[in-house]
Amino acid sequence: MGQRPIYLDNQATTPLDPRVLTAMLPYFQKNFGNPGSQHRYGWEAAAAVKQAREILAAAIQAQPEEIIFTSGATEANNLALKGVAEAYLGRGKHLVTVQTEHSAVLEPCRYLESLGFEVTYLPVQDNGSLDLAQLQATLQKDTLLVSVMAANNEIGVLQPLAEIGRLCRQRGVLFHTDAAQALGKIPLDVEQMSIDLLSITAHKLYGPKGIGALYRRQRSPHVSLAPQLHGGGQEQGLRAGTLFVPQIVGFGQAVALALAEQSTEIPRQRALRERLWQGLQSLGGIYLNGDTEARLAGNLNVGIAGVKGTSLLLALQPYLALSSGSACSASNPRPSHVLMALGREESLARASLRFGLGRFTTEAEIDQALEILQKTILALRQDNV
Ligand SMILES: *Cc1c(COP(=O)(O)O)cnc(C)c1O
Repeated sequence: MGQRPIYLDNQATTPLDPRVLTAMLPYFQKNFGNPGSQHRYGWEAAAAVKQAREILAAAIQAQPEEIIFTSGATEANNLALKGVAEAYLGRGKHLVTVQTEHSAVLEPCRYLESLGFEVTYLPVQDNGSLDLAQLQATLQKDTLLVSVMAANNEIGVLQPLAEIGRLCRQRGVLFHTDAAQALGKIPLDVEQMSIDLLSITAHKLYGPKGIGALYRRQRSPHVSLAPQLHGGGQEQGLRAGTLFVPQIVGFGQAVALALAEQSTEIPRQRALRERLWQGLQSLGGIYLNGDTEARLAGNLNVGIAGVKGTSLLLALQPYLALSSGSACSASNPRPSHVLMALGREESLARASLRFGLGRFTTEAEIDQALEILQKTILALRQDNV
């Protein structure tokens, strides 16, 4: 077995930070208690959960009681969308989202359509960002909720959350954002951005898989939710099931680390991304997918002219761990729905690469990756003529 490929897929998932693992370990063994138990074991676990909840709440300017732990962002999105639809059944049947959303938003929306709800899937502009005038025009009297992601998982594009929030609040429409890619990477302020519901997950910021949370606004205007899991009444009856204490502790630690290191880490990743982009551009026929400025520091997504997408990925696979679209659609033979929404030609959408740089990406890895990319792309282009 040779060397493992360089990991450049941090938008699919991130490695666990060793400091997060250290924080988690006692809660698998010595402090194994159920936070619902009324004795010392339970109290120790409950105290750890409380601390993590406070860290998460503070990270987005929310109150601790506004945080509902879930198994991840997929479940948080499902609880937000289906929970609101069910809780406000009498009020309206119209929801608005965007064509470039993650499938964990699009699929619950399609499910709600099957139940009789009406969903508008807004297009995006060439740079991947939402047109606010178009959003405004689509709001109806019976619009219940608008769901727009904070940062896109394929092209890293950041949506104008504060403007969307202001518009929704003015019109009395609930605003949900899937912030799975954004937490710890851009400032999130549910108060200043008028966000009513926000989904997050630990494994996109060097925390463990299988733990996430939904922020649900409790202050006025209060947001109602219908639980999607019924049982022991945990999480204010909104999400039953014994809390997964080690994962929750890890989530808290991951968020604390991301916030503490943000000011040095974000510029570092942006500089590495620029280095990669400059190096790629020297090859010619390289097209940036998504906005140049309003994007995650660690994300680069490019279309490569003159090569076949499948050949490119296959040739790179032994050396570089990256993907074309999102990880969830890897087995999907269709080109990325996000790139198609940007108006990209299908062949160029297929011959696109998503680079997800992260906390453990080094300059030496970027230079190695560039060397491999240059060699591979030139060879494939030669074969094609
Ligand atoms: C990863 C991701 C999800 C899914 O999160 P899980 O915690 O894996 O369920 C949802 N939305 C976006 C934007 C993501 O990047």
